Amino acid sequence: TEPVLEIRDLNVNYGLGDDAVHAVRDVSLTLNRGEVLGLAGESGSGKSTLAYGMLRLLPPPGVITGGQVLYHPRDSEPIDLMTLSTAKLRRFRWSEIAIVFQGAMNSLNPVHTIAAQLCDVIAAHEPRTSRAAQRSRAKDLLELVGINADRLGSYPHQLSGGMRQRVMIAMALALEPRVVVMDEPTTALDVVMQRQILAQLVELRERVGFSVLFITHDLSLLVEFSDRIAIMYGGRIVESAPAAELYRESLHPYSDGLLHSFPALRGPRRELTGIPGSPPDLRAMPSGCAFHPRCPRAFEPCADESPVLAAPPGSDERPGERTVACWLHAVERVKS
Ligand code: ATP
Ligand code: SF4
Ligand code: MG
Repeated sequence: TEPVLEIRDLNVNYGLGDDAVHAVRDVSLTLNRGEVLGLAGESGSGKSTLAYGMLRLLPPPGVITGGQVLYHPRDSEPIDLMTLSTAKLRRFRWSEIAIVFQGAMNSLNPVHTIAAQLCDVIAAHEPRTSRAAQRSRAKDLLELVGINADRLGSYPHQLSGGMRQRVMIAMALALEPRVVVMDEPTTALDVVMQRQILAQLVELRERVGFSVLFITHDLSLLVEFSDRIAIMYGGRIVESAPAAELYRESLHPYSDGLLHSFPALRGPRRELTGIPGSPPDLRAMPSGCAFHPRCPRAFEPCADESPVLAAPPGSDERPGERTVACWLHAVERVKS
């Protein structure tokens, strides 16, 4: 495996000084070449902040207070997106890393046809491409996402929500990026539609070859379609693992809770327990492990000390494959 994007110790605040909300906390996460990485967590856990932060697209009062985001180009040294000039960064987005925002389908321009909007994306980055060549690319892109080319002349309101979202994916793929970031809304798109879109992305990934960071509340989707999964809680990554391993045996009690919030995909029926309580208030985080007030397995160190994200004991043959931040799986605790 070869990294394409490496987030290192990223920190994001909303606001300044004592009133700041620390929404992303020391997050490190690697997206490998050709993989689909899923990011899950309850509402408010910091998923969108992480995605926008790493591309420096945070709306005010969002500020990055530390960290690096290394992008590995095809044939040169890694580039830190955090220190790249804004002009270079702008060229980078879309052409190397494309993002489909939460609710993006509503950002299509209502007075322009789908074809015009696809051509505009191409023209903005490749001004020398002829209009005819742009149109032909636009047609190919639509077909790629499963929309018939006779829709090129349609206006956004003439398409269903799912089709509009697929147009957004076509736009994101227009410049053949190596990374596609997709932040799925839960309100606008139902689960059936999310499922279709993710299935489509996975299929395209195989044909076109790019990496995907897919953000959703729906862990069952990620179990089914992603290669690896990272779970966020209170601004931190609390567990990451290959999707199949996470499904077979999650190590963090919060991941357990999320997995028990949907029916089993196969095998014996599981009890649907969900997670009692509510997400932490980022302005008044619990001491120690942020999950301790809700954790059914909390024990003596949990309220006092914060567990670090690290490989669990016995997993050292594949370093970095699986990490967890929980005292139940901390190497030192096991040794003592
Ligand atoms: P969802 O699943 O609902 O999209 P999320 O995991 O994407 O949630 P974020 O939108 O990243 O969560 O929000 C993380 C935290 O940052 C939340 O506590 C939220 O209240 C806070 N936050 C987000 N945007 C702002 C803002 N503009 N100003 C202040 N706080 C914000
Ligand atoms: Fe639960 Fe403790 Fe693990 Fe936190 S560290 S998840 S409170 S067992
Ligand atoms: Mg979000």
